[in-house]
Amino acid sequence: MTVPTPAELAEGILAGQTRAVARGITWAEGADPRFPELLSLIFPKGGRARVVGLTGSPGAGKSTLTAALARLARAEGKRVGIVAVDPSSPFSGGAILGDRIRMQELYTDPGVLIRSMATRGHLGGLARATADAVDVLDAAGFDEILVETVGVGQDEIEVFRLAESCVVVLTPGMGDDIQAIKAGLMEVADVFVVNKADREGADRVVHEILQMLELGEHGAWIPPVLKTVARAATGIQELRDALERHRAFLAGPEGASRRRERTVRRIESIVQQRLLADLHGLSGANGSLASEAERLEGRTRDPFAAAETLLAAVRDRGGPARGLVTRIAHLGVAVESLEEGGRFYDLLGLLEEHAEVVESQKVSTSFRPVGESSIELLEPTSPESPIAKHLARRGPGVHHVCLEVADVAAALAKLKGAGVRLVNEEPFPGAHRCLVAFVHPASTGGILLELSQKLPDEPR
Ligand code: ZN
Repeated sequence: MTVPTPAELAEGILAGQTRAVARGITWAEGADPRFPELLSLIFPKGGRARVVGLTGSPGAGKSTLTAALARLARAEGKRVGIVAVDPSSPFSGGAILGDRIRMQELYTDPGVLIRSMATRGHLGGLARATADAVDVLDAAGFDEILVETVGVGQDEIEVFRLAESCVVVLTPGMGDDIQAIKAGLMEVADVFVVNKADREGADRVVHEILQMLELGEHGAWIPPVLKTVARAATGIQELRDALERHRAFLAGPEGASRRRERTVRRIESIVQQRLLADLHGLSGANGSLASEAERLEGRTRDPFAAAETLLAAVRDRGGPARGLVTRIAHLGVAVESLEEGGRFYDLLGLLEEHAEVVESQKVSTSFRPVGESSIELLEPTSPESPIAKHLARRGPGVHHVCLEVADVAAALAKLKGAGVRLVNEEPFPGAHRCLVAFVHPASTGGILLELSQKLPDEPR
């Protein structure tokens, strides 16, 4: 079998072909690099499916309930996609989990597609993969998509939250259920179901939920509490009616803000994952998590500076170094004497703000701020000074331009990697509590370029 291109696969998915849909979900689940292209082709065609999430502790009968809802939808002629999410399962793809035996006849129904997902990895990875899988089913024309999750871990709650309508399933005689709700499901539940309601204690569970709802915060939608016996298909129509009412609610103004919240969260989670993946992929001189951690532990870097460096390095990856240069710090002007040279700038009102002798360069400097930048007058303190040589060769005039960078070592590493001719391979202390290094005019268009990184102020 040949591997389809994203365009071929998109065509198959949009035509509702089961094989294409299954492969699309596999790409989503494995975070296949071709998936973003596939999604870009199918996403515009989606947005019609209704997505319902069901969650609850293992043994609450969610699968039976899901199957019962699916049967009801099938009876109305709707196509149904079921995504069973089980992060603890070693199986994925078409694997049949223990519970799924109750869905047997649905497996052979061409109007139903059942898919298990078991993606592990970074937090949020499962939610992303599930959202992507739902988009594939949506684009393939499935009318209703039921997302079933096990347990109440953070990742599962994230999965759950992407559904339009979230159903929390509880059963009598499971004491921790109420605790589990308190642990984070309360605020996302749109409908409560007490399943196995023919058992002793069902009414007590209903009562406890109602009590909790009275205490808790909720908007205009008050989650109904329903009793079902999924095995006997009792109460399923009532559940479907409640979901219908919730859908109508979502079509109103308050529903719009909830939808927006969900959309924003989805984008955030993709950005977060990307950034984390890029962060973990950093290596070498631009800084890496390990090298920054080492500096932190050695107290040569503070946590915010480490984060800045890594963010700059992440932005820097593969592309132009956006955000690396923050401003023109100063223009360096070589003069025979600071006093004489300074007189002109005094006339302009550009008074000296800072004067300093930089031993390493054998120069005496005078900084005169101009807005965000400065003019730096440079007078040699010794005939060996580069400024003395400059004066001897070319006379007074512009000596260098200084760019402020977030991380001078990272900037040098990047330039060096690109074959740029550097005057200094390593940064050294310059004036004004800066770490600096020079880039040779041969690479910059004829200007001696200084790169400068401001160091944090010394503790007083
Ligand atoms: Zn300078």
